[in-house]
Amino acid sequence: MAEQRITIKALTWHRDSSGLFDYEASNHNKSKLKLTEESLIILQQDKIISNPHSNLIPDNSIVLASLYKNNRNFMLSASISDIPKETIREKPWIVIKGIKNSEYLLSEGDVLRLGKVKFVIKEIHGYKQSEIRRSILHSKTLQNGGVGGISKVKVERALQTDLQVLESSNCCRICLLDDNDSENQLISPCCCTGTMGVVHVKCLQRWLDSKVTQNSNRNVKVYTWRSLNCELCKFKYPSKINVNHKEIDLITIEKPKTNYIILENGSEDMKSVHVINIENKREIKLGRGNDSDMRIPDISVSRNHAIIHIKNTGLYIEDLKSKFGTLIRMKKDLCLDGDSVLKIQCGRTMMKITVIKSWSLFGCFTGCSKGKDSDDENQKARDITQDSFPNNIKD
Ligand SMILES: [Zn+2]
Ligand SMILES: [Zn+2]
Repeated sequence: MAEQRITIKALTWHRDSSGLFDYEASNHNKSKLKLTEESLIILQQDKIISNPHSNLIPDNSIVLASLYKNNRNFMLSASISDIPKETIREKPWIVIKGIKNSEYLLSEGDVLRLGKVKFVIKEIHGYKQSEIRRSILHSKTLQNGGVGGISKVKVERALQTDLQVLESSNCCRICLLDDNDSENQLISPCCCTGTMGVVHVKCLQRWLDSKVTQNSNRNVKVYTWRSLNCELCKFKYPSKINVNHKEIDLITIEKPKTNYIILENGSEDMKSVHVINIENKREIKLGRGNDSDMRIPDISVSRNHAIIHIKNTGLYIEDLKSKFGTLIRMKKDLCLDGDSVLKIQCGRTMMKITVIKSWSLFGCFTGCSKGKDSDDENQKARDITQDSFPNNIKD
């Protein structure tokens, strides 16, 4: 029976700079592992080692990855939970450059990272997308250019509670009127009590919109805002609320009538939403340079960092030999199947993971009897083992 073998070749950048890995540097620390058993991969003194027991993690080490077995396949865990709380751990990111053809099919819900700047793909409009929500990923599918629809877009939960429309005897604290029609209802959205808490939906929207700055550059419109607080009670407004079970946007984001993509970045305190019109476009350039369609003014982003190709089959992102890489957050456990190779970045370590089926005498016999397909598989397995480490890992 074919038993899987995993080879991990790791490069670690010696500088500890907010989880960045320098793809241009040449002085990385190299280390290599061969695995046949479930284990944790940990970084110790800039080298990776395998650790069979999750409760015996050496001091001063960082947990990078967890490999466990599911039937005959190894699985790479998306999150490492069964280790002591105080242990430092890194999240796995899929390296776009490590995928065959170096293009990854973007889906709503993907978290994209350029250097240290993260974006969530909130919406892709005008392209057919996979409706299947997969519970795990497969390295074979990934290697062939993306996984498609791996997770739902996290809907920012509007206010937990559904707001009730107030009686007309109340006055809006902004416009001082008591009109209360279905188009513009009176509500009490924050923690202010009494008359100070009453406001029209539209008055609140207008007031919040006035705090949003808008910038346009070619086909991209950027909306930026700092935390939206009530001036009196400091209540933090979400960008959506529910009134009588109906969801209402508090911030107006204009969407093009035709095809577009929406990316969001930032934290609770500072958020920006990028609306990119992709009608009649074949590509979108992302980078720090002035000629980028989507300009990202951050030092960890290269001038020409990445490009999104707009094809009939969907939107594909390609890395343009950027210094700090283009990455996709690995949100689901990854099944390492077939003979596949992929690159995963965890903090300042980049791991090239090669999956090899090693054939026992019996396995080879049954394999050979299947004919041409299994011959191909053997051929691929040989190619991978022959692959020379220093030349290959940087491609
Ligand atoms: Zn009003
Ligand atoms: Zn308030």
